[in-house]
Amino acid sequence: MATIGSVTRQIAALEISAKQNGATRPQPTGTSHLKKGSQSNQNIQKLLSKFAQPNPLPSGIQKASSTNTIASKAVRPPSPTKPANPPPAPTPQQTTQKKVDIGRYDGGFEIDNETRGEKVHGEAAEHLALDSSVARYRPTREWHLTDFDIGRPLGKGKFGRVYMVRTKAEPHYILALKCLYKSEIVASRVEKQIRREIEIQQNLRHPNVLRLYGYFHDEKRIFLMLEFAGKGELYRQLTKHGCFTEKRSSRYIDQMADALIYLHGKHVIHRDIKPENLLLGINGELKIGDFGWSVHAPGNRRTTLCGTLDYLPPEMVEGKEHSEKVDYWALGVLTYEFICGAPPFEDLRGHNGECRIFSDIAVPLTIELQRRNFLQLLQYDPEKRLPLTDVRKHPWIVKYRSKTSTATARAS
Ligand code: ATP
Ligand code: MG
Repeated sequence: MATIGSVTRQIAALEISAKQNGATRPQPTGTSHLKKGSQSNQNIQKLLSKFAQPNPLPSGIQKASSTNTIASKAVRPPSPTKPANPPPAPTPQQTTQKKVDIGRYDGGFEIDNETRGEKVHGEAAEHLALDSSVARYRPTREWHLTDFDIGRPLGKGKFGRVYMVRTKAEPHYILALKCLYKSEIVASRVEKQIRREIEIQQNLRHPNVLRLYGYFHDEKRIFLMLEFAGKGELYRQLTKHGCFTEKRSSRYIDQMADALIYLHGKHVIHRDIKPENLLLGINGELKIGDFGWSVHAPGNRRTTLCGTLDYLPPEMVEGKEHSEKVDYWALGVLTYEFICGAPPFEDLRGHNGECRIFSDIAVPLTIELQRRNFLQLLQYDPEKRLPLTDVRKHPWIVKYRSKTSTATARAS
């Protein structure tokens, strides 16, 4: 029987709490130029819109009966804080959510866990004991792998696999669960970077920034509960189409600029904007993911060389101090690549050891962008780059902006 205390604790601690989300966040809106999804996509879309609600939890949380995923057999027994009683009869809405097809699990988490990774010890183990339920600023509820029904694989990351999952507890959220092997993180010496990525991402709330709802760990692994990006990688779309239409490019850049204004307002510089780090939501809306190179920049200017060279601004290539204006440059490169199908500057390190010459940029664009001087984002001098608020007011952006996306941007 669930005690009042345990239920209250779960309500209070489950991620996406009303306390944290104070104001109503707008629901992500679609880009109407993208194809409409299938019926199952529309179901997922309905379900995902629940993420935007400030407090989507029903007043009494009961753990749904466990389905026999391989994972649920393989990991620790249920926590004593979770009620063992059968759940109440589902409401029609919950039935719909449970119907969302999350695909077939291939047992990848367990297969990997047999062969991959080792326990880590000492300071590294302390650094990587990452659990959102005890996070200093935003504690969430306690999570375990047994809390999820695991579905289809979504991809493989550097440190582990990513799966589509659904929480067994109501209201059966759909998420992407990303696994990271601690020993591989330690071997790559990125413990601090991973911690930083997690800390930064968990504090961000914007329709075009991939949400991190919570995280937990076991002896060998860290699991990240990420917003499910239903349309996958933007990079795949770009490869498939070669380049994007101006309309589609303009709408992505508008969303990017809006997200970057938000990030910079929180003193977060992304520093690794590129198509590979962008995902697409169920409505085709852009989601910035991968905060591995981000920094909190409370007034300080950084000199670390990081990011991908194609997108690196001159000041970073030259090892100078840099500011949030590095993301302006990357946005210019992104605009160019969306429209032309390749970035404007090549990484020439392999040929002659030098990077690139930036001072005199000849952009071979014969499109409206060039006439309107949008690529002022690619100014050598960071201070001369087009401010992001001007990017959003630029005629090339305004021309293609749909009414719904304006509302989204404004409300955020
Ligand atoms: P890499 O260095 O190869 O980018 P990574 O460790 O950064 O690896 P991710 O890029 O986050 O890992 O994840 C690997 C793949 O899993 C992605 O390319 C994408 O296809 C898929 N994926 C990751 N997160 C999500 C998500 N939230 N929704 C949908 N698919 C996702
Ligand atoms: Mg990645």
